[in-house]
Amino acid sequence: MAQQTMRGMRLGTQSLESERGVNYSARVTHLFQCANDHVSEIVFSADAEIPQTWQCKNCQLQAVQLEDGKRIKLDAAEDKVPRSHWEMLLERRSREELEEILQERLDYIRARRAGGQADL
Ligand SMILES: [Zn+2]
Repeated sequence: MAQQTMRGMRLGTQSLESERGVNYSARVTHLFQCANDHVSEIVFSADAEIPQTWQCKNCQLQAVQLEDGKRIKLDAAEDKVPRSHWEMLLERRSREELEEILQERLDYIRARRAGGQADL
């Protein structure tokens, strides 16, 4: 949304308000580069927190901020793919243990069924 607003301003939308007497806040320009090597120039307010990534203006990929002409290293947290429950389970238990637990559980359920009790 913010980006669309900025695009609109670039295309020359004129404000009807007088610009005289307006104090412009300081601006800083940061470059972002996507995996297709497109470089997007994004202007931020000087006191804004600069995000590590921005959507590429050319191809909609995620572009990474450039620092001294190189893409910055992203924080692990932002880069990390969320793990599934299954992956977390595999970190705690070996496959053999899981098979064993499954078998125990199946035996338990079968025993209950045999006893005429409803599954919970
Ligand atoms: Zn791109």
